[in-house]
Amino acid sequence: MGKVIGIDLGTTNSCVSVIENNVPVIIPGASGGMTTPSVVAFTKNGERLVGESARRQAVTNPDRTVCSVKRHMGTNWSVKVDGQEYKPQTVSAMILRQLKKDAEDFIGEEVTEAVITVPAYFNDIQRQATKDAGRIAGLNVKRIINEPTSAALSYGLNHGEAQKVMVYDLGGGTFDVSVIEIGDGVIEVLATAGDNHLGGDDFDDRIVDWIARNFKAEHRADLTKDFSAMQRVRDAAERTKKELSSSGSSHIILPYLTQVKGEPVHLDVTLTRAKFEELVSDLVERTAEPVRNALSDAKITPAQLGRVLLVGGSTRIPAIQDIVRRLTGKEPSKNINPDECVAKGAAILGSTLQGNAIVAADTGKDLLLLDVTPMSLSIETVGGVATRILERNSTLPTRYSKIFSTVMPYQKTVEIHVLQGERPMAKDNKTIGKFRLKGIKGAPAGVPQIEVAFDIDANGILKVSAKDLATGREQSITITANDRMTEEEIRQAMDDAQRYAGQDGIRREAMEVLNESQGLLARADQSLKNAGKYMDKNVRKEVKADISRLRKLVTKCRLDQVTDEQVEEMRSARAQLEASASKL
Ligand code: AMP
Repeated sequence: MGKVIGIDLGTTNSCVSVIENNVPVIIPGASGGMTTPSVVAFTKNGERLVGESARRQAVTNPDRTVCSVKRHMGTNWSVKVDGQEYKPQTVSAMILRQLKKDAEDFIGEEVTEAVITVPAYFNDIQRQATKDAGRIAGLNVKRIINEPTSAALSYGLNHGEAQKVMVYDLGGGTFDVSVIEIGDGVIEVLATAGDNHLGGDDFDDRIVDWIARNFKAEHRADLTKDFSAMQRVRDAAERTKKELSSSGSSHIILPYLTQVKGEPVHLDVTLTRAKFEELVSDLVERTAEPVRNALSDAKITPAQLGRVLLVGGSTRIPAIQDIVRRLTGKEPSKNINPDECVAKGAAILGSTLQGNAIVAADTGKDLLLLDVTPMSLSIETVGGVATRILERNSTLPTRYSKIFSTVMPYQKTVEIHVLQGERPMAKDNKTIGKFRLKGIKGAPAGVPQIEVAFDIDANGILKVSAKDLATGREQSITITANDRMTEEEIRQAMDDAQRYAGQDGIRREAMEVLNESQGLLARADQSLKNAGKYMDKNVRKEVKADISRLRKLVTKCRLDQVTDEQVEEMRSARAQLEASASKL
């Protein structure tokens, strides 16, 4: 059996790990880093870039570069490039495919199985979308696991003493807090809370706004209207933020940033850590409430916490570490790498799913992992009320059922409206599915007995069924949210991805021939110029014709559509030009 890889599919960066000699190791990305930017780009010549190379060209190719796609998972967002529409699942699949390839290069064999992590606050649709992305990338996703749970798992392996732990995870785009109990061979998630739209990107935005405001005051020019300048500012803002995690001030210099009245203007400002902390103080404060909620849901006080773990790159910000200290009264543990522990936990889980036990360091017992539902699940009943079936933080996997009845005499059909959220009224919660149970046995109102059951598997994925106990007639849900990809769309995307992978070889060849041809064209142009009027007329004519033929082929070539024949044609045109140009 092949190895199972653990993937932390992050908003900003992704990380992949595998178990080697019983310990999780991080697999380096194609460009050598331990994490891979979660960025996909479509270059103008039809090439698809993923990771560091995509991130690097984002500034010059902003409208064909997709960043933070995770924020769109489970929504009907899409991006259109060269007439083709890409959904979040398809873009995420491109990142996953790159991670799969990196893992294959590292391990030296094909990888087909993975465990992928998601924020604890992801709802059913977002989890399913993540699973679909894995499938499109050619991975059998054995399990979807919550990121904090995964971090705790890698932590639990190293430190098995019984205790309650808080995992404070602030990444690029999402914030999660979990309270976890580690003890006697069991890791149990007691509570989770968080904010799907809070992360390092928001901190970057504050610096970007500050730069734009200062720039306006100084030069009376609106930087926000200059798209490419803004991209450079955004890049610089992130660098500055990171620098301010270890130094008291950061100097931001961007030469030739934009033009004001036809004159080039440079940016040269200094941001101090104190000013930065002022700019982001409300963002830092916003993490306090989820921390309090998680503690109260877990029914513990901060004093009962054994340890606080920091996960996610943004926890390197000193102001964040300060608020964690203030809220918990604990010094956060730093002996765990915040960028890598989530992926490592997933690799550990992957290995256990293959039958390799995880053994707690202190007790020597196998560890058992219990995860929880992040939000309450209900169905809509009379008067638009959301009637709870499953409370938030129920341990997974789980099954729970309740008996309902009809409100009208001889009612034949009931609609089951499945909701997710904590609000008492149906309309204030998120609809995650709707279906009808038909053919209920005719009876006065309130007589039929309809059993509604909620089943959540270990991935946190929900199935709802309704059964008329009188007739045994049963109907179960297919989540009908528009945001989900249909089976057909998934298959189509899988085919596309496979076709794209199959084309990789030919694209590589085309790229080589293109590069060589472009070099040759430049040299031939130059030689024509140098030879000037002393050249044989016929030779000049021949070279010019060969240049024109090759240039046409080079211009026409699109790497995403290139065929074997086109590559061959370009090769032969190149050889012909080489021959004629040698006569110059
Ligand atoms: P993650 O999603 O865990 O990879 O976190 C990525 C986020 O962490 C991005 O917003 C990064 O800018 C941020 N980050 C990484 N390193 C640092 C650092 N040294 N100081 C502040 N933020 C950082």
